[in-house]
Amino acid sequence: MKKVPYDLIVIGSGPGGYSAAIRAGQYGLKTALVEKQARLGGTCLLVGCIPTKALLQTADVWERFVHADKEGIQCENPRLDYPKVKDRKDGIVTKHSNGVGMLLKRAKVERIAGYATLKGGGKVEVRSEAGVQTLEAKNIIVATGSEARMLPGLEPDPEFILTNIEILNLTSVPKSLMVIGAGAVGVEFASIFKRFGTDVTVIEMLPRMVPVEDEDISKELERNFRKQGIRVETGARAENIQKGGQGVKLTLTTRNGKQEELEAEKLLVAVGRKPNTENIGIENTKIELDRGFIKVDQWQETAEPGVYAIGDVVAGTPQLAHVATREGMIAVAHMAGKEAVPINKTRIPGCTYTEPGIGSVGLTEAQAKAAGRKVRVGRFPFGGNSRATILGHHEGFIKVVADETYGEILGVHIIGPEAFELIAEAVAAMEAEATVDVMMQTIHAHPTLYEAVGEAFNAVYGLSINA
Ligand SMILES: Cc1cc2nc3c(=O)[nH]c(=O)nc-3n(C[C@H](O)[C@H](O)[C@H](O)COP(=O)(O)OP(=O)(O)OC[C@H]3O[C@@H](n4cnc5c(N)ncnc54)[C@H](O)[C@@H]3O)c2cc1C
Repeated sequence: MKKVPYDLIVIGSGPGGYSAAIRAGQYGLKTALVEKQARLGGTCLLVGCIPTKALLQTADVWERFVHADKEGIQCENPRLDYPKVKDRKDGIVTKHSNGVGMLLKRAKVERIAGYATLKGGGKVEVRSEAGVQTLEAKNIIVATGSEARMLPGLEPDPEFILTNIEILNLTSVPKSLMVIGAGAVGVEFASIFKRFGTDVTVIEMLPRMVPVEDEDISKELERNFRKQGIRVETGARAENIQKGGQGVKLTLTTRNGKQEELEAEKLLVAVGRKPNTENIGIENTKIELDRGFIKVDQWQETAEPGVYAIGDVVAGTPQLAHVATREGMIAVAHMAGKEAVPINKTRIPGCTYTEPGIGSVGLTEAQAKAAGRKVRVGRFPFGGNSRATILGHHEGFIKVVADETYGEILGVHIIGPEAFELIAEAVAAMEAEATVDVMMQTIHAHPTLYEAVGEAFNAVYGLSINA
């Protein structure tokens, strides 16, 4: 048998790639990880999940200061030092990016700097300033992630037309911001900058915000955003976008067909993420694509034997960091001959870190009905939860979608305080195949936010106590 130098080459150091490489090292596979950027961690760590949540944390603290008098604390003239806010965010990113390097080292993963291209037959070409080298491995994982989609004719720039990358590099809080796209990325930045004092307008082509969520969640977010003073235009179109003078101008066509000229200091384009599958040598392999995304089987293996794909490049699973990581675990377990459990698409939590936050898992009410299920819904408002009132965040609710026949939990949808943490109970319940009855018997400590989750399960049978 021909001897190849690596058991596994991973392309990309995002949450999918670096986690897969570490797991491969733990299993004793001789592993190399190729990354084209100077820093490790991919979109998630460098320009996605982590820096946005660092800013959101500061936005929360800032908001508390601004409204401190409500809690009997007089705070004279609090001042936001945005360059320092940015430094803190950058420090968190650097700490964790360096941490990834240390973890790879400990797992004995060889780090190779450069741009990787698939060459077929287990070969990967790596180009860097040092030259070109061809590596060979029994297995390859493509974890090249994604980048922001742009609207036709627009190019991002550091000043006016921003993607998630440029907006994270701003050194001051803009006076006004227009956001095109009300998916997770768009609404998170809208929520951050509104709280820092920016005048924010969100424009969404689809009829509702966060369109992948349950309809009731979208309605509640829209209501809350409007209450906070964010202008929300759904079912609307932004056209004729132009940079000029002090900012960006565009023509807005509202859902009623009314046209209006809008102007703001900055424009954020958040209209989705394009998989990085161009210029990586797909044509040298048997890999099949679906609208640019890589098709995989239940073990994440592509049509090219020994080549796996994970994370944002994969067709059919949501572009989320924890999905990338899980898919990496499945791919590595499969190639290492360990027990692997395919991803269950109905048990993937999704979190949107707005104010109020969103956490959801499983089917929406509409999806459950469309699937022919006999649906029973339980709903509990955070207004009936004492801990939420203590925290001063009693907006929103928890909605449980269950099957009437056996009380199977089909989906749980939360909007409100710490929704992104609270969803964990629902995910664990669904993974353990607990029914609504089991969750009704589960004791929830008092006073906690997660008592509201218990109440929502009781509400499926009209038995919640505090609402
Ligand atoms: C603003 C924002 C906020 C987000 N917040 C969240 C969140 O809160 N929670 C969540 O779950 N998800 C969030 N996401 C999504 C999350 O970031 C992605 O789902 C995740 O990063 C995907 O991981 P990945 O490993 O597939 O790819 P990536 O993280 O995109 O990493 C891919 C890596 O591959 C490298 N690469 C690409 N091509 C090559 C090549 N040819 N050779 C060598 N290296 C290459 C890239 O440089 C990059 O480092 C957010 C995204 C954005 C933009």
